[in-house]
Amino acid sequence: MRLYNTLTRSKDEFVTHTPGRVEMYTCGPTVYDYAHIGNLRSYIMEDVLEKYLEYSGYEVNRVMNITDVGHLTSDGDTGDDKMLKGAKREHKSVMELAEFYTAAFFEDCKRLNIKKPDSVVPATGCIDDFIRVISSLIEKGYAYLAGGNVYFDTSRLDSYYVFNDFSQEDLAVGVREGVEADGNKKNKADFALWFTKSKFDNQELKWDSPWGVGYPGWHIECSCISMKHNGEYLDIHCGGIDNAFPHHTNEIAQSEAYLGHSWCPWWFHVHHLNTESGKMSKSKGERLTVSRLIERGYDPIVYRFFVLQSHYRKTLVFSYENLDNAKTAYEKLIGKISSLLGAGGQPDAARLEGLRSMFTEALDNDLNTSLGITALYDVLKSDADAATKLALVSDFDRVLSLDLIENAKRAAGQDSSLPDEIASLLEQRSAARKAKDFAKADELRAKIQELGYTVEETRQGTVVRKK
Ligand code: AMP
Ligand code: ZN
Repeated sequence: MRLYNTLTRSKDEFVTHTPGRVEMYTCGPTVYDYAHIGNLRSYIMEDVLEKYLEYSGYEVNRVMNITDVGHLTSDGDTGDDKMLKGAKREHKSVMELAEFYTAAFFEDCKRLNIKKPDSVVPATGCIDDFIRVISSLIEKGYAYLAGGNVYFDTSRLDSYYVFNDFSQEDLAVGVREGVEADGNKKNKADFALWFTKSKFDNQELKWDSPWGVGYPGWHIECSCISMKHNGEYLDIHCGGIDNAFPHHTNEIAQSEAYLGHSWCPWWFHVHHLNTESGKMSKSKGERLTVSRLIERGYDPIVYRFFVLQSHYRKTLVFSYENLDNAKTAYEKLIGKISSLLGAGGQPDAARLEGLRSMFTEALDNDLNTSLGITALYDVLKSDADAATKLALVSDFDRVLSLDLIENAKRAAGQDSSLPDEIASLLEQRSAARKAKDFAKADELRAKIQELGYTVEETRQGTVVRKK
């Protein structure tokens, strides 16, 4: 498989430290609010990457952190403390806030068929590991104490800006407009590993440490959690493109300084989902969450389909018009697949291999999911028999996770998994609609929704799903 690597700035043949096994790390969410659908674009693409590696025969060990402390994420070390702000906003403790939004995040992932990583590790559970690594960095001369905080000394490295060609002058970390410069730092690019003194005196979560009571910086958590659960040699590290600098740059600096050897040769970055007016934000404009899409009548899988239709290294623009186009295309696709159901016979092995190679060629070429979907259409258009086509749809869906067979069955009315009560309410609703009693139909729909199901009208008829 050829995959783009942000570190080498080229598409290279993917190789791993241990043949047949992939150690994969993903930066997890900062759990102070619901994930927006931009965040989830990154997680969808990382999910496809993991599933395609498995499809290709690798065993994958995937680790993800949960940022529930050390979250001065906006720019460098001096950004807002988002967890603290969120806790105040919602009159919750920081831990309650973290638990609530961690659960909400995995609920959204489930709705989008994003598999939960093998290990999900909250930063607050690894404080001892952070302290151990920071102590060692101080011993080795890579970190220093200043003004009560511990900083990483970037001047000790031969090359710090590994992802880009910026110079220290171009990148005035932490001295952006409205953000105070941290006078404790020896070099502009230095970053905090441990805080005992910061502008957030009211920080709720604090731990004892050799440097006083305090809390860890953001970057150290990913290095430590990965080294603990992936081992010393990470094969691939994932995240949104905004994380390349400073977060991933700092992860590399501290991990390699600690280990004394190179750490992760492959960096997979997903480009952003923007709105038509620009960058997607958790705080500005309409809150574009999965729940919002459901409220507006969209099946979350349609959003997954929309994301897979474009390449992960291109900025994607979200609009309801674009999502409607994806919805129409998805429904047509489901319609085509449902017309194949019920055909008997065995798949034709030779045809299977030939048609399958279009799909693997697409994904082997820098995870080109858009061409992968074209390969799916080509299968459906081909003159192969229905059993062969269905076998391929189901095979490709191991990677795409678009519920293709399930939704085709539902569309064809072959799904009998609904509870009796829901089935009966649906029947009554359909009778009310036939009789043009729309008020009653709406009332019945609300009842079905109250019982935890969504009802959606599609070209293939009414689609009902568990929320
Ligand atoms: P956060 O919860 O802010 O730590 O972000 C979670 C993940 O979403 C990170 O990998 C970010 O790089 C990624 N991300 C943030 N904004 C976007 C966006 N608009 N489009 C795609 N990914 C994003
Ligand atoms: Zn990270």
